[in-house]
Amino acid sequence: MSILASPQSAVRPRSDRPVAAWQLELRQAIRDPEVLLSVLRLEAACALAAGQFPLFVPPSYLARIEHGNPADPLLRQVWPAAEEDTPSPGFTADPVHDAQSALQPGLLKKYAGRALMVVTGACAIHCRYCFRRHFPYDETPPSEAAWSNSLQAIAQDSSIEEIILSGGDPLTVTDERLAWLINRLADIPHLKRLRVHTRLPIMIPSRATKDLLECLTGTRLTPIMVIHANHAQELDDAVADSLDRLRRAGVLLLNQAVLLRGVNDSLEAQAELNLRLIDLGVTPYYLHQLDRVQGAAHFEVPIDEGRRIMAELRRRLPGYAVPRYVQEIPGEFHKAVL
Ligand SMILES: *Cc1c(COP(=O)(O)O)cnc(C)c1O
Ligand code: SF4
Repeated sequence: MSILASPQSAVRPRSDRPVAAWQLELRQAIRDPEVLLSVLRLEAACALAAGQFPLFVPPSYLARIEHGNPADPLLRQVWPAAEEDTPSPGFTADPVHDAQSALQPGLLKKYAGRALMVVTGACAIHCRYCFRRHFPYDETPPSEAAWSNSLQAIAQDSSIEEIILSGGDPLTVTDERLAWLINRLADIPHLKRLRVHTRLPIMIPSRATKDLLECLTGTRLTPIMVIHANHAQELDDAVADSLDRLRRAGVLLLNQAVLLRGVNDSLEAQAELNLRLIDLGVTPYYLHQLDRVQGAAHFEVPIDEGRRIMAELRRRLPGYAVPRYVQEIPGEFHKAVL
């Protein structure tokens, strides 16, 4: 599967450029479940899936996982648990029908005024619940050539005001290439906003480089970043610092989370996550109902239970700290509020 090779291809250095700290971290990511268990002192504790989506955990995320705790909420997001192999009715390879909303390969337009560009298939972490685990990414590494068709299509559709860089994780791409892409986008007159969906400032906080801040804020486009934290334990001091740098540079920061069994399926976990985000200058945006992707059934929380948690959350938190509980419904014109 192409995703296996992508993290390496995304960080292949150009010979004339020093390798950034965040790129080194990607190279040092743990891919071997045995190694992960031994670092965490968990030897016999966890059964392993036979599946196709490999383990991928960068060192700075690993450092936030509690040793000796097989139920750690951060470990649960990355561990290929044996339950992944159990088939579950209703859980499929492309639950949100992304394949059907492609304007062309790598460019999706489902919602008015916004288009989503798949910049790369590579990620800085492999989240076990992700619907992209089965997405048919092409084998070509991200490049100017691969993006030109999308740029052309965006230029030809003046209804698009906002471009969403997604993936994979768009911030696995080097600053040099991102700057190229963002400058080309800023040349398209009808675009107004640039949105980036990424887990990188959380997975590898050193990703918030000076060059990245410059390329996000250096054009006429309004920069918005949607980060993706699921649990307060992900938000340590290094992450706080990276978010602070982004915010001070003028990037609007929003968070989306996924409601996950055994990770954040309680009032306490949700309250702690969303208040911590507010204290770090990030506005809670969405809490997603899990997409019913094959291999992720053990993460599902029934919608009724999610609604109960949301009702209690509204009672306890200031309104601005409560995200919208949403679900992606194929064929709808916006995400459905639950
Ligand atoms: C979620 C999503 C968007 C953005 O939706 P918002 O409600 O604006 O966050 C855009 N395109 C696709 C394909 C999406 O899945
Ligand atoms: S949730 Fe985001 S970072 Fe995680 S595997 Fe999916 S696309 Fe990659």
